Amino acid sequence: MTERTRSVWGWGWANEIPSGDALADLAAQVSAVLGAQVAPRPGPTRDAIRLAPPSVGPPADVASFCTTDAGERIAHTYGKSYCDQVRAFRGDFTGAPDFVALPRSDEEIAALIRACEGAGVALVPYGGGTSVVGGVEARSGAEPPRGKRGVVACDLRHLDRVLEVDLASRAARIQAGATGPRLEAQLAAHDLSMRHYPQSFEFSTLGGWIATRAGGHFATLYTHVDDLVESVRMITPRGVWESRRLPASGAGPSPDRLVLGSEGIFGVVTEAWVRVQARPRWRAGASVHFGRFDDAVAAARAIAQSGLYPSNCRVLDEREAMMNRVTVDGSSVLVLGFESADHPLEPWMDRALSICEDLGGKLPKEPDYRGEGAKSRADDAGAAWRKAFLRGPYLQSALVSLGVVADTFETACTWSAFADLRARVTSAVEAAMKEACGGGVVSCRFTHVYPDGPAPYFTFVAPGRDGAELEQWRAIKTAASEALAACGATITHHHAVGRVHRPWYDRERPEPFAAALRGAKAALDPAGVMNPGVLVD
Ligand SMILES: Cc1cc2nc3c(=O)[nH]c(=O)nc-3n(C[C@H](O)[C@H](O)[C@H](O)COP(=O)(O)OP(=O)(O)OC[C@H]3O[C@@H](n4cnc5c(N)ncnc54)[C@H](O)[C@@H]3O)c2cc1C
Repeated sequence: MTERTRSVWGWGWANEIPSGDALADLAAQVSAVLGAQVAPRPGPTRDAIRLAPPSVGPPADVASFCTTDAGERIAHTYGKSYCDQVRAFRGDFTGAPDFVALPRSDEEIAALIRACEGAGVALVPYGGGTSVVGGVEARSGAEPPRGKRGVVACDLRHLDRVLEVDLASRAARIQAGATGPRLEAQLAAHDLSMRHYPQSFEFSTLGGWIATRAGGHFATLYTHVDDLVESVRMITPRGVWESRRLPASGAGPSPDRLVLGSEGIFGVVTEAWVRVQARPRWRAGASVHFGRFDDAVAAARAIAQSGLYPSNCRVLDEREAMMNRVTVDGSSVLVLGFESADHPLEPWMDRALSICEDLGGKLPKEPDYRGEGAKSRADDAGAAWRKAFLRGPYLQSALVSLGVVADTFETACTWSAFADLRARVTSAVEAAMKEACGGGVVSCRFTHVYPDGPAPYFTFVAPGRDGAELEQWRAIKTAASEALAACGATITHHHAVGRVHRPWYDRERPEPFAAALRGAKAALDPAGVMNPGVLVD
């Protein structure tokens, strides 16, 4: 059996990124869609990558669990955004951390923070490194952050265990470095599941989810990890921050709310009690086709406001539906799913489908029901959608290797604002792609829906010019972000702020809140060692 290795520049496992004939086929398809010729280019090999020597080495009292190994420094240089992949594909690792820490306990993390304060080194908490907003990249090029001598990436991979399960309360204490598959495998032994599945599930970690307020697969109700966190333990430069385990509390502002989304600026999250669930025994899925996108949106809104709370309620516009091979006839699609550990789901699905039917939805295939006593087992487009969803990140990497500018951005807005937002964002992105790339395509889907509004998710693909892709990307991203700001929408529903979204986040938040955040940063991290440049200066 051959051992799988992680790609040095792209998403996930190296052998899963399309190459050879598959990449040539993709190049032909993309050339046809974009009306511009694209072709495979050779990627970097690990041996050809040159790193500058570390500007600072590990302080003596933490050296036993730190390394300056080149492979580790390369692997911890970037997250997995489009720009990260482009730079890595070019073999540019000038922003590599000086060293990598691999602690095995809270005590080692506390010692590392003390050592960083003493040595003037910036500390970047590192989970799975799947950030798409520059969250783990503290250097700007070769320069360490202002006032710092160097950077350490603190990788939590050794803290990956489920430590305790409280069956009565259906909660589990889990270490922050556990990836999705690691924690799910351990919870499965108790017949439980966290059921938090971001698209990056395979490599991202509980600590990363908490630090970025990640969004999982539940399209309604438990959309963000926030809803699953019962209490958190974080090691800060000023001591241990641990909240009480409580199902709810009205005692002032919540300490957990300050940790959720703190993106490593206050401390290192080392473990959390999270709400877990019995594994579902019944599942129902259906794909409803609409001739008009607006009718699919109206159906999603009606379902989001119906109190049915489907686990899946994703609207795909006609381009998304085609790109994901869910339909080829130009319809928009509403992918619906329900799941339960307690009861069969026919009544819920029947009601959701009758809402769709009232709004012009057509059901090309019977719904798919699974579980005890289920009445049908039809194949449906939900399966095609799930497959495309998991392949998506590998496809983006393949597009990077073809020199295509390809990225996604996401937001949330009220239902009353959505039609105007989609029109303005689409036209701003199309205009920017025309100007920067000569053309391109943009598509939209909903990842989550709330009673008061959707979370729209846009994908753009445009021909790149060799060596100019980052400038082209910047022009499109800026146009998209400005359009979101002009519509009063958020700069991110679940991808976090990091360094990429800072300019728009600074404009989005109320100034007194920014001052309060700076105050909290000064109180918890007076030497400013924790992930400088993220959220506050
Ligand atoms: C292909 C792809 C698909 C994605 N899909 C989704 C999605 O469906 N939903 C979603 O929400 N996001 C998604 N993301 C974004 C990303 O996966 C999330 O932000 C995720 O939560 C990051 O987790 P991580 O463990 O990889 O964190 P990292 O990337 O390592 O870190 C992210 C941020 O959190 C901080 N951090 C990490 N661990 C800790 C810790 N223990 N304590 C304190 N701070 C910490 C880091 O310093 C950094 O600021 C996707 C990204 C990619 C590349």
